[in-house]
Amino acid sequence: MPQRTILLVEDEETLARAVAFTLEREGYRMLTAADGAVGLAMAREAKPDLLLLDVMLPNIDGFDLCRILRRETTMPILMLTAKVDEVDRIVGLELGADDYLTKPFSMRELVARIKALFRRIEMDLTEKGKVQSQPVLDSDGLRLDPAARVVTLRGKPVSLRPKEFDLLAFLLGNAGIVFSRDVLLERVWGYEYTGDTRTVDVHVRWLREKIEDDPGRPRRLVTMRGVGYKLEA
Ligand code: CA
Repeated sequence: MPQRTILLVEDEETLARAVAFTLEREGYRMLTAADGAVGLAMAREAKPDLLLLDVMLPNIDGFDLCRILRRETTMPILMLTAKVDEVDRIVGLELGADDYLTKPFSMRELVARIKALFRRIEMDLTEKGKVQSQPVLDSDGLRLDPAARVVTLRGKPVSLRPKEFDLLAFLLGNAGIVFSRDVLLERVWGYEYTGDTRTVDVHVRWLREKIEDDPGRPRRLVTMRGVGYKLEA
């Protein structure tokens, strides 16, 4: 496998050094920027395989940087945040980051997340060949075409972000079955650990706003108290 390049945009020098040291030892080629504007230029120029992005940065903050790059590229973005209350914005529709870690995090966890993201990309690539044979899924006016990656609700197109689509595809393909948040994380996000399940909750909330007549009283994507979620068959 060719060596992968990771761009780290982080202005805390000590943390940046520790992260770069760890990831170089894991065999990645590291690029670093301590400033949002420099990070943006480097991301465009070097086209890294993955972006590690701090939120609070000089010049352009991590939110804006993520938003700008999302419009230009599909490179995986893992955000580093010091504030738990930023998590909703990060994993939600607004930014489209692929994953996040809250500070302080262990180097071991960082490495695990990065490997999981790269594995996911590889899986997506191998899955692309098979997707043509997947049947169109249909449930009470909600229709999902896996090959075309198109969703319609009563004939009207529904615009979904990639992970929302994947979650809906998984739930529709397994309609009537209840899944815990951990299992959904593993099956849809590809994480091996039983980590932060808020990612699932946020995506469920966003999905409901698009597929439910009344998102506050969901009829399709329902919560099974103490268990998880299911899509009504
Ligand atoms: Ca910072």
